[in-house]
Amino acid sequence: VPDRNAEDAIAAQMIKHGIEVLLGGGSRNFLPEESGGRRGPGDDLLAAARRAGITVVTDRDGLAAAGPGPLVGLFASSHMSYALDRDPAREPSLPEMTRAALDRLKDDPDGFFLMVEGSRVDHAAHDHDAAAAAREAIEFDATVAVALAFARSDRRTLVVATADHETGGLSLGRSVDGASIYAWSAELLRAARRSAEAMAARIERGASPREVLAEDAGVSDVTEAEAAALAGARGDALSVAIGEAVSRRARIGWTTLGHTAVDVPVWAFGPGAERLRGVRANDALGRDIAACLGLRIGDVLVDRAGRGD
Ligand SMILES: [Zn+2]
Repeated sequence: VPDRNAEDAIAAQMIKHGIEVLLGGGSRNFLPEESGGRRGPGDDLLAAARRAGITVVTDRDGLAAAGPGPLVGLFASSHMSYALDRDPAREPSLPEMTRAALDRLKDDPDGFFLMVEGSRVDHAAHDHDAAAAAREAIEFDATVAVALAFARSDRRTLVVATADHETGGLSLGRSVDGASIYAWSAELLRAARRSAEAMAARIERGASPREVLAEDAGVSDVTEAEAAALAGARGDALSVAIGEAVSRRARIGWTTLGHTAVDVPVWAFGPGAERLRGVRANDALGRDIAACLGLRIGDVLVDRAGRGD
């Protein structure tokens, strides 16, 4: 598709192009209006998937109980919840989904490719929500541990963990009121009970900003200026104001509401991992992985030395 926001078209492609395992959020792009989705009347991709023999599940128990064969699990209408906000009775965690996917793919005689995205660390960083970003990173770390445990016992699987970019320009350490203090507080992030997005939603439903920050973020010294900023903001701006109030106290810095061009790490384990060492241009990574798999990219057959024909 020409635009990543063409989510309805992407959903149709996913269902029609043969799925082994597809787990995550976004059910609104698979369902028609009458079922709470965004597709036209009668255009129910999940019903079509069931008719094609694909198991469709919508909650954590359904995932645990799903039999063998192709599987689609959609657990949220839009994005899955932040790890901080997740209701574990309803939504599986990223490590749980990864384990479920590996269980289904591991015996394929042709091998498999599995892509797992810890996507909401980016959203948290757009909101300057250091507590939610930290929990998402911890969740991703647990997800990588699931993949590594599989690869260690399987001994023929390459695990690659990386990011497509950094978001927010996060720094551990931040000058506040002109003072250089060589410290930041993990304790304050640990105290958070909800994401800034969920706190903003509470405030928009009428809760007092001071009360929400005290209860959900452990911040009970909101200044007059901050209270005024929180009272005047809505939507994303409100989430950012909350994220900034926590980040200032935790001495965590942010330079942008968008993405940055700083280098991101690539970690790799297993056969072919030696190919992924050193400083690399980001477009080399796709060729490297294709080379490890002996795949074609477009018309180019990438050989195992990484040379295209
Ligand atoms: Zn982003």
